[in-house]
Amino acid sequence: MDFRPPIDLHTHSSVSDGTQSPAELMRAASAAGLGTVALTDHDSTAGWAEAAAEAARLGLDFVPGMELSTRFGWKSVHMLAYFFDPASAGLVAETERIRDARRTRAETIVTRLAADYELTWDDVLAHTAPGATVGRPHIADALVTRGHVGTRSEAFETLLHPRGGYFEPLYAPSPLEGVALIREAGGVAVLAHPATRGRDNVLDERYLTSLVDAGLAGLEIDHRENTEDGRAYLRAFAARHGLVVTGSSDYHGAGKPNLLGENLTDPEALARIARGSKHLSGARNPLR
Ligand code: AMP
Ligand code: FE
Ligand code: FE
Ligand code: ZN
Repeated sequence: MDFRPPIDLHTHSSVSDGTQSPAELMRAASAAGLGTVALTDHDSTAGWAEAAAEAARLGLDFVPGMELSTRFGWKSVHMLAYFFDPASAGLVAETERIRDARRTRAETIVTRLAADYELTWDDVLAHTAPGATVGRPHIADALVTRGHVGTRSEAFETLLHPRGGYFEPLYAPSPLEGVALIREAGGVAVLAHPATRGRDNVLDERYLTSLVDAGLAGLEIDHRENTEDGRAYLRAFAARHGLVVTGSSDYHGAGKPNLLGENLTDPEALARIARGSKHLSGARNPLR
């Protein structure tokens, strides 16, 4: 089970908040010189088939993935999942629940914004591909189109900020429930960008250890938003617990400055992830 380097294990298409279709994303990955790319849309596997077909056509190795929304208290915690059964009942039910909650929550935020700004739900839908996992990025794009802010990032720093006056938190299962659902689906769980708010805001060590006990396999350490002190702490934690360390871009097309391949994962780390899957069972890739 070897995957060709360079390997980027975290990207988004228009199936969630990326700006390119899954096929366009695969073409961009190939053009960027990647050997292997994972598609990890938020709470959805709807882009897998299109991405896998285009990757096969391009001679690019494809890793099926997802970025599952979870929540620990007020903290939003993203959990990457790889090589799982996309028909697993538990995970299917939970991701449907999250996507429904996301829509209601986005409508709530838009209703609040509409009291002060010219903005409609149709504006948001105009920036959302049919069936896509909706989120603040789509509201941000609508705000940009209406001219209320200059960029997606500016929207996040102002009107869509949790303290911006219009925010509504998102329903999501706990990280521990997330790991359990991913394991139940035969997949491999890797905690996404765990130190975006620095060493002191990483999940507390006892809880992290409980995630490892539940089957968490790895930590995404090489990610542009993880702070230096956070990475040092996470590397030591990963070494102590024998966790896989990954690196990735978290590419969102034009939605974020992150560039394909800006951080990479070692082939040996990906081989370990693939071996941890109960769903792959020998086959190199269930979609090819
Ligand atoms: P939500 O899940 O709806 O709360 O929105 C969070 C998503 O917005 C994350 O998946 C990020 O990809 C995206 N996001 C967060 N901050 C920014 C930013 N400053 N610029 C662009 N996208 C962002
Ligand atoms: Fe995103
Ligand atoms: Fe994330
Ligand atoms: Zn992401």
